[in-house]
Amino acid sequence: MESGRPAHVAMLATPGMGHLIPLAELAKRLAARHSVTATLLTFASTASATQRAVLASLPPAVSSRPLPPVDLSDLPSDAPNEARMSEECTRSLPAIQGVLADLNNNRDTRLVAFVTDLFGTDAFDAARGAGVERICLFFPGSLHSLTLFLHLPELAASVPGEFRDLPEPIRLPGCVPIPGRDVLSPLQERSSPAYGVMLRLAERFLEADTFLVNSFDAVEPEAAAALRPLKPGRPPVYALGPLILNAGSSGGDAIDSKPPRAACLEWLDKQPARSVIFVSFGSGGALLAEEMRELALGLELSGRRFLWVVRSPAEDEGSVSGNYYDAESKKDPFAYLPEGFVDRTEGVGLVVPSWAPQTEVLAHEATGGFLTHCRWNSTLESLVHGVPMVAWPLYAEQRLNAVMLAEGVGAAIRLPEAKEKETIAAVVREVMVGEGKGAAVRAKVAELKKAAAEGLREGGAATSALDGVVENWIGEN
Ligand code: UDP
Repeated sequence: MESGRPAHVAMLATPGMGHLIPLAELAKRLAARHSVTATLLTFASTASATQRAVLASLPPAVSSRPLPPVDLSDLPSDAPNEARMSEECTRSLPAIQGVLADLNNNRDTRLVAFVTDLFGTDAFDAARGAGVERICLFFPGSLHSLTLFLHLPELAASVPGEFRDLPEPIRLPGCVPIPGRDVLSPLQERSSPAYGVMLRLAERFLEADTFLVNSFDAVEPEAAAALRPLKPGRPPVYALGPLILNAGSSGGDAIDSKPPRAACLEWLDKQPARSVIFVSFGSGGALLAEEMRELALGLELSGRRFLWVVRSPAEDEGSVSGNYYDAESKKDPFAYLPEGFVDRTEGVGLVVPSWAPQTEVLAHEATGGFLTHCRWNSTLESLVHGVPMVAWPLYAEQRLNAVMLAEGVGAAIRLPEAKEKETIAAVVREVMVGEGKGAAVRAKVAELKKAAAEGLREGGAATSALDGVVENWIGEN
């Protein structure tokens, strides 16, 4: 009997921890609250230890299915990540369709939807080909970014030249004005393959039946108000966030909460409350060598305690996302720190290579600030834990997030374009203990922390939105 079979969802996570982590959280929440099971499809190129740890932590209701590897050796070695991800997805379409058809024919469960993140829009056809009825686009970024994507086809046609040369900021419904240079990095060079990829993805957004977005109204109320009303031709938007590791999931089985406890957490245990600034650039970010040096000296000069996740520097501006597929540092990062830095800051700062259990660090009471690249998962994790931010955006949509956080929400202070030790020190001090802008930022994140928690409670906005999504999936079948 059709309605008697338990509902199942297929989810496609394109490369990047920033896609996998929130989708895995969504799957966990669907299982815990609605008894909807899920299969997460993943790509071979991202079979890193970190990814394996996330997949290994999933509850039995969420299974994972690695897609067979595809040959990408013909892509130029400097092909941008966006082009690489999109190409891997395109070449995997037959396999994706095969898995979806299998799941759709399963007699024990009822496949109610296909959910993919934004780099998987080409798989819409595979889903339709496999007979899946409902297609959801999971947008792992902010409502601001989603708004930009929705307007991208018309902006691409109407903006002459490059975005960065626009004399006036771009004004979109409900959004903080976005200076052209802060529009997503892959859109900054029309001749680059990444530009074409992003535009093609954006053009397909409206083919989805539903948008599921990892954000919440309190953080961008005007963008939410602009997207909420149903509009013909635009899929309904459900804000399900914040979906982060550990937040609102019943299992508490996140990758970073397994024993043994990381040494940096033990170190944090010994620091006074709210005294440490956590410094990290996500799973993929790397600084230029001179930026790394200024950051080290700036942290030292700030006189604040710090916990810094270091990676070896990027060779040039084009490779600041060089660790995207693998968070491991390419070379010994300590070799790039200023001479004597580690000794001079002993006891005040701790430098760890490549990776730290970020959500636990942000949740720790000793953490009082986060110097971040402003990617969306890091941003949400900071807000959920009420940690004020210093914004140092690097690539992708990070500059857009930084504009929104610093100028719209007021949850961050953005570092100026030229990263000099004196300004780094001053901004770090202001965010941690300053009485001016810093105090306002600290008050704002405390407010957003509450709002995020309320949204995830019974009857809260995120919980009700998820209930609405599932009702559509199950009720209509
Ligand atoms: N992360 C972590 N430890 C690190 C770096 C990153 O646990 O040292 C986690 C972080 O908590 C977040 C994700 O990896 O959940 C990074 O996602 P985000 O969107 O912030 O950045 P990206 O890695 O995609 O640049």
